[in-house]
Amino acid sequence: MDTSISNLKELEDIDLYGKVHGVFEKSFQNHEIVFSPNSKSEIIQDPKSKMTFELKVVDGLGKRPHNRPVQPDATDSAVTKEKIESVKANNPFAKPEPHLVIIGDLLGKYRLIMNKYPNVEDHFLLVTKEFVQQDSLLQPIELQMIHTILKNLNGSKELKEQDTKFFAFFNSGPESGYSQFHKHIQFMKLPPHFPVYQTRLTSNADFFIPNEINVNKHPLVNKSASFKHGILKIKEEFKDEDERETILAVLYMFLIRRILNTFNEKGIDREKVSYNFVMMDDWMMTVPRRHAKYQDVWQNSLGYMGLFSARDEEVRQKMLDLGFSKILEECGFPIEEDEEKITYNEYSY
Ligand code: AMP
Repeated sequence: MDTSISNLKELEDIDLYGKVHGVFEKSFQNHEIVFSPNSKSEIIQDPKSKMTFELKVVDGLGKRPHNRPVQPDATDSAVTKEKIESVKANNPFAKPEPHLVIIGDLLGKYRLIMNKYPNVEDHFLLVTKEFVQQDSLLQPIELQMIHTILKNLNGSKELKEQDTKFFAFFNSGPESGYSQFHKHIQFMKLPPHFPVYQTRLTSNADFFIPNEINVNKHPLVNKSASFKHGILKIKEEFKDEDERETILAVLYMFLIRRILNTFNEKGIDREKVSYNFVMMDDWMMTVPRRHAKYQDVWQNSLGYMGLFSARDEEVRQKMLDLGFSKILEECGFPIEEDEEKITYNEYSY
């Protein structure tokens, strides 16, 4: 029987981890997902960026279907009605495989489903029921759901025992590295004890509403990173749901306006606007993206969390040869010397 959740309070209170892990275990045992639990994985400290990276070979990556209206680097990047119709015809999220469904009805318009080709165990997706383009902005209610899901999972005793946390990510725009065009937000667990640079930065900062005029209220930046990005702290406690809705939306839209400004400044076509959005309970981050891949190495939000997945040994070696920092810089935009002081006209984009 499908679980149905009609409001955020219910989502906050259910045993979500129990449900997610239950579906994962069952579909793994029944061979309904493509997952190798003993994939080769290593933790590497990058001397250049001082970031910690996980490098992993994920068998399922090479098997993932691609269903998108335009390919990266396409000269004609216009998304036409015909291209959308063809995407809809092969869409795995419109009618998800029933055994992969975690919550069949979430607030009437959404579902939670297990990822059929997970990077790690318990890797799941929040999808819209009806087709909505991946290249659409996150709605305030979607940000509220993401935040509620993260708070629920990361507050659970199972996650604390595993010494890990979930994060959420959303790849949007033709160069963001997505493979599916039906709107989906992903949730994944970090490797145990994995250092999170965004938490290191935000835990030492007070919460603020960002503002272009005041440089003390600009997004936080990991200065040793090679790629342009912006991080904002999320308020620790909200006085009510209205406050959470407003603050999450204001923070996200500030970062989005900066993404648009970056593309404007570089003179890049509007159709090419692409970014990765990553969020945990205590921060959100965006990374503008100019290329989905560098020398055939694909990247999505995961690389910017420090998580590199290769579909086979050859790609793994290529990632090591090119270097993590270089790949992230080439797929994104190079960080600027005074990145944290960059200011845009408050009203422009
Ligand atoms: P992205 O590549 O960021 O667009 O993410 C799409 C995700 O959907 C990938 O991680 C795939 O593994 C996953 N996926 C592809 N087909 C299915 C399916 N039939 N059911 C569930 N997840 C899927």
